[in-house]
Amino acid sequence: MPRWPHDDPASLAAFYGDPDKGEPGKQLKPVIPPFQMYYAGKPIAKIMFHVKAAGALAAALDEIWRECGRDQHKVDRLGLSVFSGAYNPRYVRGYEPGNKEGRKPRWSNHAYGAAIDFDAEHNGFNTGHGTMPQLAVAAFKRQGALWGGDYQGRTDPMHFEFCSRAPTATPLSFLGEVQADGDSDQSGAGEVAGSDAPAGTPAGGAAPSAGGFFGRVRNWVTAGASSIGLTSLGAMTNGEVVAMLLGFVLLILVAGFLISLWLWGKQSVADWIAKHIA
Ligand SMILES: [Zn+2]
Repeated sequence: MPRWPHDDPASLAAFYGDPDKGEPGKQLKPVIPPFQMYYAGKPIAKIMFHVKAAGALAAALDEIWRECGRDQHKVDRLGLSVFSGAYNPRYVRGYEPGNKEGRKPRWSNHAYGAAIDFDAEHNGFNTGHGTMPQLAVAAFKRQGALWGGDYQGRTDPMHFEFCSRAPTATPLSFLGEVQADGDSDQSGAGEVAGSDAPAGTPAGGAAPSAGGFFGRVRNWVTAGASSIGLTSLGAMTNGEVVAMLLGFVLLILVAGFLISLWLWGKQSVADWIAKHIA
């Protein structure tokens, strides 16, 4: 049994409170980092975090501090003293109420006070694992947290969240399930650039389930595209998915025609077309 709620709105709200009612914001407590941290270049004294996950956050920060030999310079060098946001009552980008794609609104896991971002500048949206040091990943995973660097398709390496993606009962759910990434803190601070790209294949804190045929095609296309460096495909509409499939079919037909020309010569192909099609 995972220690943290499953990453879906009902389970998160049951555990952390409902952001629609402002509940998580009333259940925050300060976590004092064991090393100096900075937000937008200014020293901070504490991080406000959900009371149910505050102990786990403190334990992860303690482990980072120990693993760095209690050396502030080392923590600084690794980018782990750069705080880029925690509690923030906002929606997953692209999942705001009234979004033009008609997606169901979805709170970011930052809205539950259960996610934290480090060094957004060097660990932006879809930068693979960014520069996030393994010792930080290990420290958070020891507390059962998920790391945005592990998301399929699109990554959010600045981001850690206290929830679970243990498989649910639905077999083959991986085909329809999407991950909500791009979940970094942004609306709280204009200077934190970057990783909150449209979460078409939501990952990150929020994983709206874009099931069905279009959702799956979109996931496959997005995963493939992001692996070759295209990042803007996640927010494709259904129409765009259809256009892309039609384009693909057309490409195969044209390629087949050219290959038959090459194999059999112009005259035989023209004869064949005249006989069978024209
Ligand atoms: Zn985040």
